[in-house]
Amino acid sequence: MPKPFILTVDDDPDVLRAVERDLRRQYGSRYRIMAAESGRAALEAVEQLKLRNDPLALFLVDQRMPGMSGVEFLEAALPLFPNAKRALLTAYADTDAAIRAINSARIDHYLMKPWDPPEERLYGVVDDLLDDWQASFRPTFEGIRIVGHRWSPQSSEVRDFLARNFIPYQWLNVETEETARQLMEFCKADVSQLPLVIFPDGSHLTRPTLNAVAHKLDLKTRAALPFYDLIVLGGGPAGLAAAVYGAADGLKTLLVEREAPGGQAGRSSRIENYLGFPSGLSGTDLARRAVTQARRFGAEILAPQEVVNMRVEGPSRVVTLSDGSEIGAHAILIATGIAFRKIDAHGVEELNGAGVYYYAPMTEALSYRDMDIYIVGGANSAGQAAIYFSQYAESVTMLVRGNSLSAGMSQYLEDQIKATKNIVVRLNSVVTSVTGTTRCEGITIRNIRTCEEETVAACALFVYAGAVPHTDWLANVVECDAQGYVLSGTHLLRDGKRPKNWGLDRDPFYLETSVPGIFVAGDVRHRSAKGVTSGVGEGAMAVKLVHQYLSQT
Ligand SMILES: Cc1cc2nc3c(=O)[nH]c(=O)nc-3n(C[C@H](O)[C@H](O)[C@H](O)COP(=O)(O)OP(=O)(O)OC[C@H]3O[C@@H](n4cnc5c(N)ncnc54)[C@H](O)[C@@H]3O)c2cc1C
Repeated sequence: MPKPFILTVDDDPDVLRAVERDLRRQYGSRYRIMAAESGRAALEAVEQLKLRNDPLALFLVDQRMPGMSGVEFLEAALPLFPNAKRALLTAYADTDAAIRAINSARIDHYLMKPWDPPEERLYGVVDDLLDDWQASFRPTFEGIRIVGHRWSPQSSEVRDFLARNFIPYQWLNVETEETARQLMEFCKADVSQLPLVIFPDGSHLTRPTLNAVAHKLDLKTRAALPFYDLIVLGGGPAGLAAAVYGAADGLKTLLVEREAPGGQAGRSSRIENYLGFPSGLSGTDLARRAVTQARRFGAEILAPQEVVNMRVEGPSRVVTLSDGSEIGAHAILIATGIAFRKIDAHGVEELNGAGVYYYAPMTEALSYRDMDIYIVGGANSAGQAAIYFSQYAESVTMLVRGNSLSAGMSQYLEDQIKATKNIVVRLNSVVTSVTGTTRCEGITIRNIRTCEEETVAACALFVYAGAVPHTDWLANVVECDAQGYVLSGTHLLRDGKRPKNWGLDRDPFYLETSVPGIFVAGDVRHRSAKGVTSGVGEGAMAVKLVHQYLSQT
């Protein structure tokens, strides 16, 4: 924890130096001593402390200062640090003013000048004040703070981005938190510029793009080398596994992830079917462990960074990133997974991020404490979400298109849902519209068997409606099936014939695409088993096949 501050203010430079010296000598090892020569300068310093979220333990302020008296300064500073202790330095003539200020500026103590010797006339009082402050002090949050509207899609996007990149943040709701309003004022930001993102060094960004936040946080978005042994596209379970095993096997490995490592699995509240974790683990936890492991073996991870193009140049495979840079490799692994399927309901797009969420991160659950929420979907991901949200929400209603849960859900999850009192399951149900001006307030549900419609109040709609691969940009390089899944291995052979332009005297390896040296693993692969375990397995297996490919070229 950073050392808390003691701020002393006096317009007389000699007195200021003396008090600063005495405070530093006695308290310098435990507190940072800050000195200001006027009330105005001190207020600016206090604003900076507030912006950096530094703790402030004590104000020790001269009463008689031109422009702004000690009491006036304390009255202005009080709302910013209401728990800091306040002591006035007064001359004998100012005693009455000091006594009156006990109420208006909530002065804890006043000290007479001069305070020599400090051992007798200063330290005893300051010790008491600091002990009192320590007793009620709760350490301040040291990371990034986000000020915004609870229902703002932009705020939710930044929060999601930070959470998925394992960066702790504090959320300050501008509608309910005084600190949020104060921070806006210091940063001269108005509501149209929210969200306001304040960094631990006191600097801030208004309504930032994710790239701007990533840049400010020094997240790695540029590759260190122009050429690698293996470039992995996508940081889901398949890509992360490939990065771990590729780097562990001594391949110069680069992983490029457009959002945050973890992929779909990063949104799972509890993966219960992963080998070796009998009580399950969250997707974020799995991703964090994998990222640490990959980095330990020397894999380089770029995130957020998107691959927008890929081409073959003789023996090299070259990818183009969204910033226009190009990187080459001996081999490439496509592990770009699948993206969430949108639902077709009136008004749903307008409220996306404002009460409507596709595969919401777990952190969103906290925003819906004691509220009534709805979940679309009947597969495992929807079931996990229902169980997780039910710990916070008043009620969770699952809207399932099919006529039973069993069709798309593992038995263990179905059992848990049945046993959870505040989860209701409505079968044969779809959402036809979502209403609300600034946020989701209601939804209309249609029963597809009876065609009856019902409009209900809903604070949030969480959608888990499956996913599709987005591989259009790859389709002119590697062969895909009609749905866009990438073909590999024997799926490429037509009547025993190898793919067009294949050019090698062997069949494609199991996870090799229609272009030698370009591999595919995980959910994006045609006929893959889908799931964390198979993604990890395929990512690991792809590395072995890359070795075989490299040994033959
Ligand atoms: C909420 C939820 C819960 C789930 N629970 C379970 C469970 O309990 N058990 C289980 O086995 N499975 C579960 N799944 C499914 C599982 O998460 C997926 O099968 C698995 O994540 C697939 O891994 P993947 O690496 O193939 O792809 P993904 O996880 O989809 O990862 C692909 C990654 O590639 C990135 N990417 C895409 N295009 C680009 C590009 N052009 N440039 C750079 N990066 C790109 C994406 O941002 C993404 O991070 C769950 C899924 C969800 C959504």
